[in-house]
Amino acid sequence: MSEGIIFSIEEFAVNDGPGIRTTVFLKGCPLRCAWCHNPEGWNPAPETLLKKGREEMCGYRISAEELAKRLSRDTDLFRDSGGGVTFTGGEPLLQAEFLAEVMDLLPDINKAVETSAYAPEESFRKVMERADILLFDIKLIDPDMHKRYTGADNGPILRNLDILKASGRPFIARIPLIPGVNDSKENMEASADLLRDAPGLKRVELLRYNKIAGAKYPMLSLTYAPPFDETIEPAIHDTFTEKGIKMIIP
Ligand code: SF4
Repeated sequence: MSEGIIFSIEEFAVNDGPGIRTTVFLKGCPLRCAWCHNPEGWNPAPETLLKKGREEMCGYRISAEELAKRLSRDTDLFRDSGGGVTFTGGEPLLQAEFLAEVMDLLPDINKAVETSAYAPEESFRKVMERADILLFDIKLIDPDMHKRYTGADNGPILRNLDILKASGRPFIARIPLIPGVNDSKENMEASADLLRDAPGLKRVELLRYNKIAGAKYPMLSLTYAPPFDETIEPAIHDTFTEKGIKMIIP
C-alpha cells in the first residue's frame, strides 16, 4: 500500500459534485494560478502555517488503506443523498498512483476528481478510468496567456482533454471567471469550441472569482498580488448556451 500526503478532509460539501460529499484535498500542485485561493496546496510536502501567531502543520501522510477506511464510514450517507467523495487539491493527479489505490478501495462509493489535468497522460488515464465523474478545470486556451497566468504550458491539459473527450466518460468543465484574464468572448468561444463535441460533457460551470483569494497567503509568508483588477466584476457571455452547451453559474 502506498502513502499519500493530504492537507484536509471536509465533510458535507455540496459544491464539488452531486449530492452530499466528502472532499479530500491532496497536497502539491505544479501550477501557480494568479488567482489561486489554496496556496497551502502547492507544496507537495507537509509544511508549517502561521495562523494568528501560532504554528500549525499543514499536510500529513496517510496510507491508501487508512484514507479509504476513513471515507467508507459515510457510505450510507453518500448512497442516500446521491453523493460520494471528491478528490481535489492542489492537483490530485500529482499523486496519481496513491489516488488510484484509494479509489480502487472504494468500489461502492461515487468518486469525483477535480483536476487541472496538468499531468502526464498515463496519470490522467489511470485516474480518469476510475472516476465516476471528472471536474475538469479549464482556464485559458491561448497558450501564451495560460503560461503567463498559471506558470504552466497548457499543451498537456489540452491533450488530456482530447483523451477525455475520446473516452466519452462523464465530466463537468469548470471555468474560473477572472476579470480581464479569461473572461473575454474570445476565450469563452475557444473553450466552447473545444467542448461542443465532447460526448461526456454534462455542463459547463462558470465559477465566480473568489474575492478572498488572498486570505491564506500571509500564513505562508507569501504576498497575494494578482496581476489583474480584482475589484471589477468579470464579464459573463452567453457563448456556451449559444453553442448548445448547458452552462450554469453555481
Ligand atoms: S491548479 Fe488549482 S490549486 Fe493549483 S495553482 Fe491553480 S488554482 Fe491553485
